[in-house]
Amino acid sequence: MAQKYKTYDIRCGKCSEYILTYHKYGAGKGILRLYLANIAAPKSFSELLKSSNSSIKSIPNLQCPKCEEVIGVPAKSKGQKWVFRMRQGLFHRKLKK
Ligand SMILES: [Zn+2]
Repeated sequence: MAQKYKTYDIRCGKCSEYILTYHKYGAGKGILRLYLANIAAPKSFSELLKSSNSSIKSIPNLQCPKCEEVIGVPAKSKGQKWVFRMRQGLFHRKLKK
């Protein structure tokens, strides 16, 4: 059965620390925005989504847990969904097979 999404591991571009696992839908190759709802792991992100109301202040920057490099900042998509706007060049992504 064909999957509707691809699974990527996102790592810090600076220290290579694992940050999260993302399910990417759609055909585009780049990762410009991460939808919080599509972050598969760690689970703290889906908890974040549940606990956040509408305040942007309730969503922290997406940071490397090790070197604290900020690789994404929270924003709302046009469809009013929470996303991290990714800072290009500051992270690595790897397609999982
Ligand atoms: Zn790092």
